[in-house]
Amino acid sequence: MFTKTRFSSWDLPDDLQNGLKELGFEFVTEVQWQTVPIARSGRDVIGQARTGSGKTAAFGIPILEACQPTGNLQGLILAPTRELASQDREELESIQGSRGLKILAVYGGTDIEKQARTLQGGVDLIVGTPGRVMDMTKRGYIDLLSPNWFVLDEADRMLDMGFFPDINWVLEKMESRERTLLFSATFPQEILDAAYEFMQDPDFVITNEEKLDIPPIDQFSIRIGRSNKLWALSRVLSVHSGDGQSIVFVNTKRMVDLIIQRLGKVGFEVKALHGDMNQNQRERILGDFREGKVKTIVATDVAARGIDVDGVTLVVNYDVPSDIDSYVHRIGRTGRIGRKGEAWTLVSRDDLGQMNRIIATHGLLVEDCEAPDMPEGEEDKVRFSEDHGESSSVFGMVGVKMSIGSDEGMTKLAASEWIVNSIRCDELAIGNISISNNQTIIEVHKSKVGLALKAVRKNGYQGKEVTVEVV
Ligand code: ADP
Ligand code: MG
Repeated sequence: MFTKTRFSSWDLPDDLQNGLKELGFEFVTEVQWQTVPIARSGRDVIGQARTGSGKTAAFGIPILEACQPTGNLQGLILAPTRELASQDREELESIQGSRGLKILAVYGGTDIEKQARTLQGGVDLIVGTPGRVMDMTKRGYIDLLSPNWFVLDEADRMLDMGFFPDINWVLEKMESRERTLLFSATFPQEILDAAYEFMQDPDFVITNEEKLDIPPIDQFSIRIGRSNKLWALSRVLSVHSGDGQSIVFVNTKRMVDLIIQRLGKVGFEVKALHGDMNQNQRERILGDFREGKVKTIVATDVAARGIDVDGVTLVVNYDVPSDIDSYVHRIGRTGRIGRKGEAWTLVSRDDLGQMNRIIATHGLLVEDCEAPDMPEGEEDKVRFSEDHGESSSVFGMVGVKMSIGSDEGMTKLAASEWIVNSIRCDELAIGNISISNNQTIIEVHKSKVGLALKAVRKNGYQGKEVTVEVV
């Protein structure tokens, strides 16, 4: 990640040099080495770099150098979450040393009036989330006509979170914008298109960082709704019950507890490992695991750091990790010293973007498949629940197919009235209806699908039995 170039060899203003020194930054990282000189020379930059590669300083140095402490807004940096915006702000604050720029973080969940007062007192740079920046602009507290620098940090996450319309809104207002820097870990077509539209002849920089070693194990993913992840997990664990040990990864301590409890109830032998445990507890569990007394542990990333147990042949990502490299660290817990290993990842609709990003970043081969069948003669330990949310459209509508059509005199109006009356719902809960000779497909809001299925199965249509299914 680091190059042999020192910050001290760059001719930067003293305050920045001192700020960087204070921070303990000595050697320039790859992405900084590639993008900072281009940005300082006056060109727009699109930078591809992974999490943790030093992007904040990469855009921070040129922008901090270009801005003066005047109290006029000169730059806007957008980040996808308040955590990232606040981290970026802190790092910029450190790098600037004694330069004296007023840098304000603008994100939701903070006192809007207080922020407004700070803004009125004069601010040189804003680091914010798109929604809140838009909101403050509409209220007249931020003047987007003023800044000439614009930075889009973590563009792919922004796209994923549906922020692009807000970003476009902001960009249209930034009529004095002269310089634009964009950073992203991956580059889906939408980002490339948008970038070339709103940037001027940008220089595209790809950092060739050393790749993490991907263990040679089989990787699978199961598309499954949140509410059925436990069902899928219990199947994967049941199928692997004969051989080896397993680690189930989740993203929070709370989730560790929840899963331990639920798996324990249905007869799996599992132990928890998370950051809240004291050293003794941790070591005892790890010791038992090493000796093979514990078959499965459920862990967070932090807690699992450094587990090297040769008997692990299965890793399950119950949650898709929010950090791109974590996936590789997690699956590296299995298949050690040439043993066979498998990694399974449970991917809900909300996880899909992140999973695709992980796959793209590391160039992984992950086979998309169904949850495995239970072993011969065994029954599911966890029940599958009907999960309509997962098959719904973006508007929350789910197609319901019924074995009755225009041959039986069905019309759109009749179909809509029939469902509305039989489940007493608002007409808005009914979407498109399409009818052929012998079937009707009605879109029903996901919150009402369960009711509608029940009603149709129970009452049929005008005395006739109707079969019905979600499509
Ligand atoms: P990214 O935005 O690419 O995820 P950050 O800019 O947040 O990465 O940097 C990741 C970490 O590395 C931060 O803690 C940051 O302070 C540190 N860092 C960045 N550049 C350097 C450098 N040149 N030398 C030492 N540490 C650095
Ligand atoms: Mg960052």
